[in-house]
Amino acid sequence: MLTRDWLQRLLWLYAHGEGCYPLKMGLDAAQWATLQADFSPPAGQIPSDCLLRQSVMSELNATRTEERQQLAQWLACYMAPDAAPMHLIIASVSLAFNHLWQDLGLHSREELRELMSDCFPRLVEMNTQNMRWKKFFYRQRCLQSDGELVCRSPSCDACCERAYCFEPA
Ligand code: SF4
Repeated sequence: MLTRDWLQRLLWLYAHGEGCYPLKMGLDAAQWATLQADFSPPAGQIPSDCLLRQSVMSELNATRTEERQQLAQWLACYMAPDAAPMHLIIASVSLAFNHLWQDLGLHSREELRELMSDCFPRLVEMNTQNMRWKKFFYRQRCLQSDGELVCRSPSCDACCERAYCFEPA
């Protein structure tokens, strides 16, 4: 699928209150206006309970702005040339609480892998052990940073949380 098609798909999911997005998919006003201009958002109102959830996610994201920005910058380094603002959307939704495919409102982990293959192909090549995507992002950032270590163990093989980070074989 083209990266444009993925952006359109996520916009459709957001507009129907699926997943666990913040308001405006975590974009600022200018980015949101550009996305709306590039794609015709579906008509209709987002259900009020979904709007409330999106508001709560926005409040949560506001408390973790630096983390979100750093993750978006890191994702941008691996993004297909025409996929922006996918890095910003993925970084924002990564702060939610479930598996990334669920928080994006996708059908399945397999669909997320298709999205990642089209929008972040180098990350799919790097995720050779089929690590869960949010865990993979943070683990990679740990390995690449020289400061704060997010993971509890320097080695996944020796870590007691391994079952939470990797898909079963
Ligand atoms: S298994 Fe442990 S060390 Fe590896 S990514 Fe998960 S938490 Fe981090």
